[in-house]
Amino acid sequence: MTLSPRHTNLQNFYPLARRCGRMICLLSPRDAGWRDFGLQLLRCAGPVYAFLTALLCCVLAQPARATIRYEVSLANPSEHLFHVSVTVPDVRGALQLQMPAWNALYQIRDFSSRVQQASAESNGKHLEVEKLDKLTWRIRGEGTVCVRYAVFWDSPGPFASQLNEEHAFINPAMVFLYVPNRRAEAVALTFHDLPKDWEVATPLDHARTESGANLVHTVSASGYDAFCDGPMEVGVFRTFPIEDGPRPVAVAIHGDNWKQADVEAVLKRICPYEVQLMGGAPFNRYLFILHIGKAAQGAGGGMEHANGTAINVSSGQALAGVAAHEFFHLWNVKRIRPASLEPIDYTREQYTRALWFAEGVTSTYGSYTLVRSGIWSKQDFYSDLAQNINELEARPANRWQSAEQSSLDAWLEKYSYYNGPDFSVSYYSKGQILGLLLDILIRDRTGNEKSLDDVMRKMNDDFARKGKLYRDSLDIRLTVEAVAGGSFADFFENYVAHAEGLPYAAILGKAGLLIEKQEIQRPDLGFALEREFGAKVTVRSVVAGSTAERAGLKAGDEIETWNGESVPRRVESWLRTRKPGDILRLQVRRNEQLSNLVFALGGRTDEIFVVSEDPKATAKAQAIRAGLVRGSAAAAAAN
Ligand SMILES: [Zn+2]
Ligand SMILES: [Zn+2]
Repeated sequence: MTLSPRHTNLQNFYPLARRCGRMICLLSPRDAGWRDFGLQLLRCAGPVYAFLTALLCCVLAQPARATIRYEVSLANPSEHLFHVSVTVPDVRGALQLQMPAWNALYQIRDFSSRVQQASAESNGKHLEVEKLDKLTWRIRGEGTVCVRYAVFWDSPGPFASQLNEEHAFINPAMVFLYVPNRRAEAVALTFHDLPKDWEVATPLDHARTESGANLVHTVSASGYDAFCDGPMEVGVFRTFPIEDGPRPVAVAIHGDNWKQADVEAVLKRICPYEVQLMGGAPFNRYLFILHIGKAAQGAGGGMEHANGTAINVSSGQALAGVAAHEFFHLWNVKRIRPASLEPIDYTREQYTRALWFAEGVTSTYGSYTLVRSGIWSKQDFYSDLAQNINELEARPANRWQSAEQSSLDAWLEKYSYYNGPDFSVSYYSKGQILGLLLDILIRDRTGNEKSLDDVMRKMNDDFARKGKLYRDSLDIRLTVEAVAGGSFADFFENYVAHAEGLPYAAILGKAGLLIEKQEIQRPDLGFALEREFGAKVTVRSVVAGSTAERAGLKAGDEIETWNGESVPRRVESWLRTRKPGDILRLQVRRNEQLSNLVFALGGRTDEIFVVSEDPKATAKAQAIRAGLVRGSAAAAAAN
């Protein structure tokens, strides 16, 4: 079975019906549409319907755990407003509803700021809606209470939500209110007013039924948290299978600048490799929701979910790297999960010291997957490693911010200056390197018999498959020690908990790899920027003696244009594409006066690290190197 939205999937109604109480079990799946229609009538009609239905509910339904029903209208998509109603049964005294302050991305974003026009009713009677704090609404009422509101979203990308004339992309936590003490109850969402030809793609259970001339799309989940873990793409997209069989994998693609053959070529290598590495697929079905090319709207990246991922990339060629990382999250973080991330608290920061492993080691496996499945050459793998080492070592903060502290401070990443090299290191790049170094040490200690692959599989067996959470770095260390034998206390103390310099040459040498410094000429901007919330970009500081200073740039200048365009979102990446002497034209605003500054980028000599194979490596080191780039089985054969 594929997730193709062109298939009607009535079976999904059975488990849903079982969760809804006895009344609904009396209805056949064919009546399910009628039932939804009846509930709609209840909300719109007068007290007679309400009384009759309430009576029916009292007599027939004894729901220990009810279903919280959402309806969303996508009418007038150009207004970017999702019109939502949420119907909560069994309310006693008062109903509290909250909007998450964050979801998935470790940033407080206060989605409640997008909510407007909240109103409530019960049994046809209007109820007062009180706001208790920035996230919370209270409605005093009894029985079944229906709350209506609208949410404005027009932001592209896998971490955002958007409704426009082209599509709707929904991260449920950004659109749907929850009942704080009833997140475990089943959830059902019905779409209304879908523009013609729009379909729904989601890794959640999805039923597509005919109701008269209309198609009714219903999405359901076992609870609110599971619901939030299922993004939805609603619009016109292409969908096709990557893997058939009992654990199907499919894609739904909205966009241009891609070819089906290219997408298949990378995903048909990545998914089977990772599934085989980890000893089987942990999902019933998996969905890649991809926005490629113009549809990505410049918002790149990927977001992992329990049974799928949402990825935005500029072209089909850029897919492999993101997909290999996101697919591995199926195990690392979604199922091999740190205790610090559970239970989810949507109202405030959820602190964890484990992102160096949950994200960084996921990147280690992203790179292993690419080289072991043949998408990368060995040279690509070494270049990627060197690039991560350079990224880390170029940051002064690497001298004092540990991998654990970088994980803990993830919540500061929404402040642009925090991401600067003086303030933080990335738990992605540092974690990716730590994963590789750990792997080499385990292989070295066990004569290449054991590896980080065994650590991941053991964590999968000991935690994920038993439904247990791991105690952050402690259980990672204990698992490494169980696999490799002996203590890894010093490694975790020095390089994970503290910011001791990483002994690259010594450890890479055990894998027959050389790390050497090379001098290169780099362009130098000569000033630093500060990006405020919104679009305003100002000059934070200007380096004395730089070409920027000589051209008259001053701290506090607001940059209007950058070579005639808006300021690049990632100036460091932009700079990597330039060379010393390239011209930069800035239009700046100072004291309400606009002026144009033109200057050549300065240059500086930088030392960068280069990783290569050591031709004099011992046989053991060569076997370890082969193990890294070919995977455990091949390494064992090479032994
Ligand atoms: Zn889309
Ligand atoms: Zn990730």
